[in-house]
Amino acid sequence: MNTPARVTICGGGVAAVEALLALREMLALRPHIDLVAPNRSFVYQPMAVAEPFGLATTQLFGLAEMADELGAELHVGSLELVDSNERCMVLADGTRLPYDAAIVAVGARRCVWLQGAMPFGGAEDTATFTDLLERLERGEVSRIAFAAPQGTSWTLPLYELALLTASRLAERHITGVALTVITPEADPLAMFGATASRVLRGELSDRGIHLRVGASAQTLTSGRLELSSGEAVEVDEVVALPLLEGPRVQGLPCDPDGFTLIDDHCMVTGLEDVYAAGDGTSFPIKQGGIASQQADVAAEAIVARLGASLKPSVFQPLLRAMLLTGIGPTYLRAGVGGGAQTGDVATNALWWPPTKIAGRYLGPYLAHTSLLGSGTSLKDRPPSPRAPGALQENHREARELALVLADADARDGDYRSALSWLEVIERLDGVLPAGYVEKRETWETLAGK
Ligand SMILES: Cc1cc2nc3c(=O)[nH]c(=O)nc-3n(C[C@H](O)[C@H](O)[C@H](O)COP(=O)(O)OP(=O)(O)OC[C@H]3O[C@@H](n4cnc5c(N)ncnc54)[C@H](O)[C@@H]3O)c2cc1C
Repeated sequence: MNTPARVTICGGGVAAVEALLALREMLALRPHIDLVAPNRSFVYQPMAVAEPFGLATTQLFGLAEMADELGAELHVGSLELVDSNERCMVLADGTRLPYDAAIVAVGARRCVWLQGAMPFGGAEDTATFTDLLERLERGEVSRIAFAAPQGTSWTLPLYELALLTASRLAERHITGVALTVITPEADPLAMFGATASRVLRGELSDRGIHLRVGASAQTLTSGRLELSSGEAVEVDEVVALPLLEGPRVQGLPCDPDGFTLIDDHCMVTGLEDVYAAGDGTSFPIKQGGIASQQADVAAEAIVARLGASLKPSVFQPLLRAMLLTGIGPTYLRAGVGGGAQTGDVATNALWWPPTKIAGRYLGPYLAHTSLLGSGTSLKDRPPSPRAPGALQENHREARELALVLADADARDGDYRSALSWLEVIERLDGVLPAGYVEKRETWETLAGK
């Protein structure tokens, strides 16, 4: 393939936007990019858990502005069928978009699995959760269970809702409320390793939150929640994470649950030049950071296919999570697979920028956009299509400046100030550069700490 022609990205969420940014960052050839999405705004879901507590608002970013800035043509519509024989994407309104390469990133479908429970699937459910908090404060409810369905991989929002609720109750001196988390996991957030589970167990226990692991809710009748373990919990309300189902995209092979089958390069099994990324794929962990990594892998494969001299990476998932605890965030990081999980747990950022969805391009791009104070319009941004790279450059400069100032303060004998510069670097990078751990120990001694 000599001339890059058309790349089609279907979806308007995390994986689609990450793919768009990655392609623009990597492809000097600037192919025509079609972006197909039914939604006009990109919704940043993770902060939806904090919104009912007044700690954040769910940010919306206009897809038209993003497409405009990144040089893509937005089609407001839905993918109906991938016609791989004709190499075109067929939309619900009959539009046919020919492609040389395509990324399908249409996410998963959220399903109700527990009748009578209050679903919490993101931004659309914050109003009902806010209402529940008000009822708690008025004393109308006093027993709440937070439940994840069997087979859920990403349970983080469940713990966040429970911990933030407990913090709210403590702040308002409300007692006598029973909060219970019910999870099919063997240990809380087990995929982040034993340390993360131990820390989280401690957090839950400190706030008086009951935990039922290895269990899932089966039925809810007259305030009685029956669990798969045979136990029952008396409740006034159950907050339930959604069950995710695959998108069953016509023309793409899928597993029995409708998730698109992909290989190590995120190429759809058996289909040349069609890739898939995100919650809609058969990879079992449905998480924004993973969706972004898949989008990057797919984008690299496409860039190589379109003629760039690059050895495309294979998908090697790395999990990153920022857990909102109501006191300060806890950062978690772990590889996936390979036997017993070990991971990192820290109260300072383990990646940069420390966004909830750790996307290589998406994180810096959205952080940049938010810093500029424009959650809905990207028009006022500096005209730089390489904004993610620019932000990384700023980060590098900030780190180097902090190191220079730390060394200068230490030379002047102001060890306390030098140490505070090291704290800044830790916040930026999560770790200190080589040699500075020893320097810190020396400076702490000299500062009398
Ligand atoms: C409350 C909550 C908290 C979360 N917290 C975190 C967190 O802290 N960290 C983290 O990493 N992840 C978190 N996640 C998970 C994360 O949001 C998802 O894993 C991520 O959004 C998946 O990205 P995606 O692109 O696959 O799907 P989505 O972001 O869901 O996007 C799918 C897109 O496809 C579009 N679409 C659907 N059908 C079609 C079609 N036929 N044609 C074209 N477009 C279509 C949709 O409109 C949507 O724009 C959280 C999720 C929720 C709900």
